[in-house]
Amino acid sequence: MHPDTSSSVPLYRFDLPAGFSDIVHAVTTRTGGAGRAPFDSLNLSMHVGDDPQIVLHNRAITAAALWIDPAGLVVARQPHGDLVAVVRREDRGRGAFATETEFQDADALITGERGLTLICFSADCPPVLVLDPARNAIGVAHSGWRGTVAGVVGNTVRCMESEYGSSPADLVACIGPGIGVCCFEVGPVVSRAIDERMPLMRQCVELRDERTFLDLPGAIRLQLLDAGLAECNIETSCLCTSCRNDEFFSYRADGGTTGRFAAVVGMR
Ligand SMILES: [Zn+2]
Repeated sequence: MHPDTSSSVPLYRFDLPAGFSDIVHAVTTRTGGAGRAPFDSLNLSMHVGDDPQIVLHNRAITAAALWIDPAGLVVARQPHGDLVAVVRREDRGRGAFATETEFQDADALITGERGLTLICFSADCPPVLVLDPARNAIGVAHSGWRGTVAGVVGNTVRCMESEYGSSPADLVACIGPGIGVCCFEVGPVVSRAIDERMPLMRQCVELRDERTFLDLPGAIRLQLLDAGLAECNIETSCLCTSCRNDEFFSYRADGGTTGRFAAVVGMR
């Protein structure tokens, strides 16, 4: 992932391999928007208490920076679960301007449609893009610790297999900025959930000075490998949202009330 210094709003782009020229994608930061503290400044979520008019303005300038239509955004409510919604042509614009039309139960969105843009909001939970250049399908998943324990990323891959005939070996995944093992101290609730529901993640738990830390991006990577992706097709951002709180919203570093940056992906 690298900063795109040419865009009108500060953005990061993943280092996609060749053959993805029809993919529009980016990761936003917290800078370049109109929001005031604690949502300063490019908050893109309607669910954090920010002024909706400012959020819509921020979405509009982000869309302009990406040369996409803000009316083509598709939004999921992201309740920290494992559900994947299939986005069809008639779903274009759901949640773009109002929360009522968002996919209410989903934390992941997949589509084979061109001309719409899937968006995933985050403040510590890594957003994950899944791209299938062979079948012309894309997906995005919101994979915080709850979603990762529930298997949302694995579900996203399996839904792309069943819906679009995707082969995991063809898929390219990009794990966006999220809270890193440097900062993500977890308690017994998380440890117990891992033991009971996703033992694969045990190897991503670190003990330091009698405290427990979780390597969440590492756990997502393992889940992608377990779903059949090739190691060389997974890119992981090295940016920790808590360490880089100047550049990204961090639920933990900001003490709970904060905005959301986003990962977006669409097919031209
Ligand atoms: Zn950190």
